[in-house]
Amino acid sequence: MTLVRMDELLKRAAAKHIGCGAFNVGNMEMVMGAVKAAEEMKCPIILQIAERRLKHSPLELMGPMMVQAAIESSADIAVHFDHGISISNIRKALELGFTSVMFDGSGLPLAENIEKTKAISLIAAEFGACLEGELGVVGGNEGEDVMIKTEYTNPADALEYSRAAGIDALAVAIGNAHGHYICEPELKFDVLREIDEIVDVPLVLHGGSGMNAQQFQEAIQNGIRKVNIATASFQELTRNVSSYVKSNSAPTYFGLNEAMVEGVYHNVKRHIEIFNM
Ligand SMILES: [Zn+2]
Repeated sequence: MTLVRMDELLKRAAAKHIGCGAFNVGNMEMVMGAVKAAEEMKCPIILQIAERRLKHSPLELMGPMMVQAAIESSADIAVHFDHGISISNIRKALELGFTSVMFDGSGLPLAENIEKTKAISLIAAEFGACLEGELGVVGGNEGEDVMIKTEYTNPADALEYSRAAGIDALAVAIGNAHGHYICEPELKFDVLREIDEIVDVPLVLHGGSGMNAQQFQEAIQNGIRKVNIATASFQELTRNVSSYVKSNSAPTYFGLNEAMVEGVYHNVKRHIEIFNM
């Protein structure tokens, strides 16, 4: 049980018709909470950090911690760089030992997305790592002011991209959104099914926070193998810390540390249970 490649975990999930949870982390306590849940559930997970979070959680500090946590864990864990945009940061993650990276070229025209993704697939291959690509526009926001409107992944484009871009996993847009859902998400499972029928690589669902168990299970039944959870962990950590502070007349760092770990642990555990049903 150790640090593994992401495609290995997605292959195992496919064989069992389940989803593999990919949990975003931003500090040591989040890493500890996620790993604790994986170990207790005896279930592999993906630990990941997104490029846009590096301002608060520097890659050169987080990366070695995530990799070491995976190496020392009794669970199998892949370490993934989420929503990579710059080649320099993607390369840095690979140099730190991440077993998987994402290149998010979803805002580019298809031909340019293919070309750039292909170039990054060669870099990832040099390091023996996997690559996730994205097509379509996942809506919502992650703390920024702008709301992005969903553009559904076109199945024909998904086929072309997955064949030409050298990817090991494909993130799709089927009505899923990053951050908080303002209203109930309307997921197009028919689009997902169509993509899954023609595309050979495992599919990834971003923006899982706020979806209910039934929606997760329907997504998994229709081909999703990697499910990203970020906002829900950040929220549960914050809620747990806030109730710890409110219920303690003299809060301490050590109490805060435990509240953070526990908040993430509960959220990760709950999602692993749903993805394994
Ligand atoms: Zn995402």
